[in-house]
Amino acid sequence: MTKSLIKNVVILGGGTAGWMSAVLIKKVMGSVVNVELVESEAIGTIGVGEATIPPIQLFNSVLGLNEAEFLRETKATIKLAIKFDNWKELNHSYYHTFGAAGKSLAFCHFHHLLQRAQNLGHQSHLWEYDLNYLCCEAEKFAKINTQDPILEMGYAYHFDASLYAAYLRKLSEQMGVKRTEGMVNDVKQHKESGFIESLILKDGQEIQGDLFIDCSGMAGLLTEKKLNTGYEDWSHWLRCDRAVAMPSERFENTLPYTRSIAHTAGWQWRIPLQHRNGNGLVYSSHHYSEDEAVNILTDNLESPSLGDPNFIRFRTGRRRKQWNKNVIAVGLSSGFLEPLESTSIHLIQSAIVRLLHNFPHQGIDESQVAEYNKQSKIEYEQIRDFIILHYHVNERTDSQFWIDVRHMDIPASLKHKIKIFKENGQLFREQEDLFAESSWLQVMMGQGIQPRDYHPLADGVPQDKLFNMLDQIKAIKQEPLAKLPTHDEFLNKLCNT
Ligand code: FAD
Repeated sequence: MTKSLIKNVVILGGGTAGWMSAVLIKKVMGSVVNVELVESEAIGTIGVGEATIPPIQLFNSVLGLNEAEFLRETKATIKLAIKFDNWKELNHSYYHTFGAAGKSLAFCHFHHLLQRAQNLGHQSHLWEYDLNYLCCEAEKFAKINTQDPILEMGYAYHFDASLYAAYLRKLSEQMGVKRTEGMVNDVKQHKESGFIESLILKDGQEIQGDLFIDCSGMAGLLTEKKLNTGYEDWSHWLRCDRAVAMPSERFENTLPYTRSIAHTAGWQWRIPLQHRNGNGLVYSSHHYSEDEAVNILTDNLESPSLGDPNFIRFRTGRRRKQWNKNVIAVGLSSGFLEPLESTSIHLIQSAIVRLLHNFPHQGIDESQVAEYNKQSKIEYEQIRDFIILHYHVNERTDSQFWIDVRHMDIPASLKHKIKIFKENGQLFREQEDLFAESSWLQVMMGQGIQPRDYHPLADGVPQDKLFNMLDQIKAIKQEPLAKLPTHDEFLNKLCNT
């Protein structure tokens, strides 16, 4: 592998991935490298991707963004959870919140205590002990100023993705990122090493670089079209292969959560922004035609649409190597997992952070590339398993799609996780799994898995003490609610002052 100093970083693509990469690399490495971004307005961006998960706060804070300004600029709202309707069975709902239920004892997670209490006749469910859930149901939100970890609320945002990209573009350019408008229609490679040397634009301009970030979207212009990296296809597990998106007018209070509503062969998202709802249907083209998909979506909008349907085809899976030669694939060029748990923007963030940790300023080293690829693979697979869980564990009998995914063979890693939880309620977090135990717990229980046993430590608490403890925890969790503003009041105050 050729080793030459990395001075010029070239980013191909100006979607969410391109601008997130540009702004963070410039912010962190701006004194060491030059950053140039090439994008083509004629091609445009995918134009979806509006729900996020809590680590986005870290991204924004590294950039030094003011939260109120960010909310205003991107028409954002607060996201405390995803509410899943009809996933376990028709007319059943559960939440996957960014919070955690109850309070654990040393070595004994809260749900073991709760399960014992339930076995003894205590009438309560997991989510009643989760402040995020209580706020979702009450449609309330404000940051709680507390030292008590039991009252911490994880949250993320829903935002207008094109406004977010425009906001990051403005910041990037202020910091000195060079933006070049133009369509790339050729790529020069080094004869022996195969490293990319430059991008040739339609107007003849040549953009040279030492390291290329491929943010060209699903086409994967550098990583796939030029370097033939290959793709690992996961569509036998995740069988949806299309989406149709359509914004609509706002019609209800601003919910502090995303809605995910399962249909007979896919699911619909509803994302409340300040100025509109983002909607879409993710579906299997083996089950719905385009017309059927649009009809299902429009029948379930509950308010007038604000645009024409935007159809998107995808193939679930990942690029075999996220880093190949001197090209790092970030965003949709690196793979695709459906937006059920809003993980794509996070994958962009973690890919750039991983690159920054392993930045090859002295030249590209093969072992560093291998490590980067290993970590990326694990991350993709863990998220893949979490998404498959939602499909696989279901009790629906009303459509062949749901019956088939219930009976499909699943990855061994997920099988193992489900088996252990079913046996004794144990959950484990491996190698920095993005989703903590509380996430796995909520989805496993929400989808209908009830462990056969609980941890024996729960037996160590006498019944009256256990019941008292649960009542106390519930009271502590409920206490802040009365004082919290509604989500709408919170947004109005922050965005209009
Ligand atoms: P794109 O937006 O496609 O950008 C590609 C860029 O490359 C464009 O600027 C284009 O001009 C440029 N380009 C391409 N070819 C050339 C060329 N030849 N010359 C010059 N420029 C070129 N993620 C979430 O986190 N949350 C969600 O809720 C969510 N919802 C989604 C819903 C759907 C239906 C889909 C499909 C995705 C969703 N995602 C979501 C994923 C999210 O949209 C993407 O991860 C994100 O938008 C990043 O896209 P990108 O920047 O990689 O690609």
